[in-house]
Amino acid sequence: MKVLVIGGGGREHALVWKLGQSPRVEKIWCAPGNGGIAAEAECVAVDAGDVAALIALAEKIQPDLTIVGPELPLVNGLTDEFRQRNWAIVGPSQQASQLEGSKIFSKQFLQRHAIPTAKMYGTYDSSREACAALRSVAWPVVIKADGLCAGKGVFLAPDFDAARDFIERVMEKNELGPGGKRILLEETLEGEELSFIILSDGERYAPLVPTRDHKRVFDGNQGPNTGGMGAYSTDDLLPPDLRKTVISKIVEPTLCGLAADGIPYQGFLYVGLMLTKSGPQVLEFNCRLGDPETQAIMARVDFDLADVLADVAAGRLQPSKLKWKPGASACVVLASRGYPGKFETGKRIEGLTAAEQVTSVKVLHAGTKVSTGSLVTNGGRVLGVTAADSTLGAALGTVYEAVEQIHFEGMHCRKDIGAQATPLRAAGN
Ligand code: AMP
Repeated sequence: MKVLVIGGGGREHALVWKLGQSPRVEKIWCAPGNGGIAAEAECVAVDAGDVAALIALAEKIQPDLTIVGPELPLVNGLTDEFRQRNWAIVGPSQQASQLEGSKIFSKQFLQRHAIPTAKMYGTYDSSREACAALRSVAWPVVIKADGLCAGKGVFLAPDFDAARDFIERVMEKNELGPGGKRILLEETLEGEELSFIILSDGERYAPLVPTRDHKRVFDGNQGPNTGGMGAYSTDDLLPPDLRKTVISKIVEPTLCGLAADGIPYQGFLYVGLMLTKSGPQVLEFNCRLGDPETQAIMARVDFDLADVLADVAAGRLQPSKLKWKPGASACVVLASRGYPGKFETGKRIEGLTAAEQVTSVKVLHAGTKVSTGSLVTNGGRVLGVTAADSTLGAALGTVYEAVEQIHFEGMHCRKDIGAQATPLRAAGN
């Protein structure tokens, strides 16, 4: 099987790593890939959001299977173009990707199918209307820009002034680009967050192992939000009763709702939940795998990923094929100085060989490139040091031992990934 992976971050490196272990896979391309992926796949310099260029690439290389990592090609309609040509691809259609591409579409979908979610106050096309609506909300209020905003489109506003400031920056100064043309206001939910990711072929689905992400940049969940500074996975994270509730009240109604609306969903669906006192409620959908959750999930894969994804593309997923390593896994992200703000790049990375000699460690690359023969930093999140073991403590011990070996100027990471590994509480109904 010849496989094309689209994207160039840690998530895509994790996919390439596991696909490469399949006896069925003879060749992997990655567009655009990165400095670490280049050692395991042929990287092709094509932008992941450029649908026309990706079609031209696939025409040339003729992959047997294409797997889409990031949301942009999905929202831009790549999978529809592939399916029209009968090319096997894993990822939802452009219409289904609206679950992530439009917060308003997603909220209306949830309301239409009575799936638990935060109450919406309204949707607004102008800052004047939105600010007028602020007079009758409870504080703090959540403001969401409708479109894709690279993770910056959601703001929890503590008071009127902060809310008006955000609305003006988004809707008048267009600081988030076209994604901020419309906004919605919704109530603030309280509780613990949980990501639940499933893989579906449009009819059947299989849940992936549960993971917990660490969004804030500093230890103790301090500092600004990032794309994710680390993740871990253990089965204990999701007690059986909570799992049942999430499946019966959220996952199955979502898949049934999509089918009823004539929007079958094929690919990975990431359900972001808030576990409130009255039960789990949907915060958001993503139409793809999370990063760095994927790194922790792939470390626990104990099945032929290429085989299962080929089944998904062909509409014949067999959920029983997804077998997982028992125990736990962890991924710690090493980031550039300044991240998540303006960060430095081009710093030489040292110690990778020593790090990879630590038993069972896999160093997954996110923002790296090869420059005049050496590996240098090329992004905010640079590396994701990943391992699986029989317990979370053992996996974290291995990961942090490997982290000690790695160095680049300005490198920083969280020292407390997985430190609060408490099972999530099953709440209410
Ligand atoms: P979203 O992209 O919609 O998940 O929002 C990003 C983050 O904002 C979530 O992971 C939550 O931490 C927070 N968030 C979103 N919606 C709400 C809400 N209704 N109440 C509280 N926090 C929220």
